[in-house]
Amino acid sequence: MADCIFCKIADKDIPSKTVYEDDEIIAFHDLEPQAPVHVLIIPKKHIASLDDLADDDGELIAHLMLKIKEIAKDLNLEKGYRLVNNCGEDGLQTVKHLHFHLLGKRKMTWPPG
Ligand code: IMP
Repeated sequence: MADCIFCKIADKDIPSKTVYEDDEIIAFHDLEPQAPVHVLIIPKKHIASLDDLADDDGELIAHLMLKIKEIAKDLNLEKGYRLVNNCGEDGLQTVKHLHFHLLGKRKMTWPPG
């Protein structure tokens, strides 16, 4: 999608500190990290949000989810991590391209703000 910053990252039109990539997904460091490790995992295909998933996206999302534990292992998050998806206005989603935040290397708090 022309105006989507994460599509531009997926297309390499904008540089990113990539930690994992394959044909379907890419994972890169967040520009404004909220934890010592803060990586975003996105499908390369433009999907605006979790709410916009289609029934035939199941395989793609399963692939993305299964890669997260491998990415976490590569990032040495052996003590655990938090996976966050912000969806829509109340969820405070700012970039309208589906992404999951992988946060680690600090003790998280609950409830989230
Ligand atoms: P959201 O609030 O869940 O939509 O999160 C969007 C995230 O994207 C924020 O944590 C931003 O810091 C991050 N972000 C925005 N632009 C870039 C970029 O160009 N590179 C890496 N991360 C970005």
